[in-house]
Amino acid sequence: MTWRQGGYFSAGLESDPELFDLIEGELRRQQNGVELIASENLVSRCVLAAQGSVLTNKTVEGEVFKRYYGGAVYADEIEALAMTRACKLFNCRFANVQPHSGTNANAGVLLGLLKLGAPILSMNISAGGHISHGHPATLTGRDYAVTHYGVSRQTERIDLDEVRDLAIKTRPHLIIAGGSAYPREIDFSQLRKIADEVSAYLMVDMAHFAGLVASRLYPDPLPYAHVVTTTTYKSLRGARGGMVLWNDPELTQRINHGIFPGVQGSVMLHAVAGKAVCFGEALREEFIFYSTQAQCAAALLAQKLSAGGARIVTGGTDTTMVLVDLSNFNITGDTAAKALELAGLAVNKNLIPFDRRTPESPSGLRLSTNAGVARGFGVSEFAAIGEWIARILHNPSDMSEIKAIAHAVSTLCSAFPIY
Ligand SMILES: *Cc1c(COP(=O)(O)O)cnc(C)c1O
Repeated sequence: MTWRQGGYFSAGLESDPELFDLIEGELRRQQNGVELIASENLVSRCVLAAQGSVLTNKTVEGEVFKRYYGGAVYADEIEALAMTRACKLFNCRFANVQPHSGTNANAGVLLGLLKLGAPILSMNISAGGHISHGHPATLTGRDYAVTHYGVSRQTERIDLDEVRDLAIKTRPHLIIAGGSAYPREIDFSQLRKIADEVSAYLMVDMAHFAGLVASRLYPDPLPYAHVVTTTTYKSLRGARGGMVLWNDPELTQRINHGIFPGVQGSVMLHAVAGKAVCFGEALREEFIFYSTQAQCAAALLAQKLSAGGARIVTGGTDTTMVLVDLSNFNITGDTAAKALELAGLAVNKNLIPFDRRTPESPSGLRLSTNAGVARGFGVSEFAAIGEWIARILHNPSDMSEIKAIAHAVSTLCSAFPIY
């Protein structure tokens, strides 16, 4: 840190060469590789700037315009802007933009709406559910009596009859829909009917398809769910964090108190500003174009992989996500992910429905087009990516094949620079 009259301020990141080099390395990694991990995206410069702004200096706690600390004039306006934009984008009445993550959004809603030990019904992980929906290793798994529904063995889609049977049997106070590896549309209206039959709340966690909902390319959960949670950094292409949306004013205090003081303290105002930016971007016409491209590219990627011999879970996708069953290739998800990474293709290993393997070495891969389309890839780029992936899955230990593809990946990436 260099002394300057009036205070201690270092120069920019260059003043910490050790960290600077690491961040530069990460930038190069993002620039030179194809990012296919479904929980990632490449944000706009404006989102980056908001998150790196002086807002990091400001501490506020509690609800907007009712803070526990002074000096909140701009903080209040910024959070209110994010809330207004969120409500406009998703056409709903209330938003809480404070959750530091998707997990916190879920934990806060559960804390606000449920009593300790209450029964809940959610999708299991291998069927595509999320760990924050009651997995035994999490607080939600410890604090509530969790029952899981799965998918049909035949269609690999949610079996509404099973959900209904389990709901009648276990009388949940909350039913959760939405997951991290479910590539298909979900029938929210039928789920609401089931929830009403057993007087349960319906919560939809739209983390992976929020951007598509915003673009009206996926069924809108808000008319049916009592409460909707999401992350803001996946298909929404925004700041790292979470959000809660709802319409019923009766729920407002319980949801807000569940988030603060329930599971969080002060607001990460710089992240809230980043969320305001991404909601503003998502309200523009270009975002619908982006989402449409990402959805079309995912359908094409699924087709190419299928033509290359892979089995696509559910036979395709309605979202920007493609779930691949590797059984045809005699290779596990972890080995496949490592081979693909050598070629500059970043994917994640994933469980598939009825997987007989473990989360560490599962039978599947999860891919997404979110980040690729954000840097300008279109259908022809994703057609090539699908072919490269299939070639590697056929010959995961053929180093000359991997090298040839790595070269093609690198050429593609240099044609589409980021930042
Ligand atoms: C990614 C995801 C989350 C969790 O988000 P974090 O920000 O990592 O806590 C929650 N729910 C679903 C369905 C997700 O896909």
